[in-house]
Amino acid sequence: MTDAPRTIGEIASYHAHVYYDPATSRGDADRLRNWMGERFLVTLGRWHDVKVGPHDQAMYQVAFAAELFPTLVPWLMLNHGSLSILVHPNTTNPRRDHRDDPLWIGTPLAVHADKLPEEAEMELAPAPNTSPTLRP
Ligand code: ZN
Repeated sequence: MTDAPRTIGEIASYHAHVYYDPATSRGDADRLRNWMGERFLVTLGRWHDVKVGPHDQAMYQVAFAAELFPTLVPWLMLNHGSLSILVHPNTTNPRRDHRDDPLWIGTPLAVHADKLPEEAEMELAPAPNTSPTLRP
């Protein structure tokens, strides 16, 4: 057993999961998605209007490189409105990433981490599919 702390070198990239209610807040989620795409080199995932994986509400995923954390995450703190957002690191343990080590912006929701594996390949930040046109 080691007492050494974990290092941030474990973190290959991050996800932000933006939750919404298809009946009431999809428009807000769409606006936030467009704002992010205009301002940040992120990869915007597909819309999931029904629950998928460990997620307890409709959501889309935003994948981003570690270098973006100090600008994207504070920007989301200021601009999430009423939406709940789960920000988690991507290490080799998705279950721990989602259940034990994330941060929430807005109201925390349930995460069904038992649906996630405890071991996975490191998920490197994907190539961004958008080009920001505005400053954050
Ligand atoms: Zn994720």
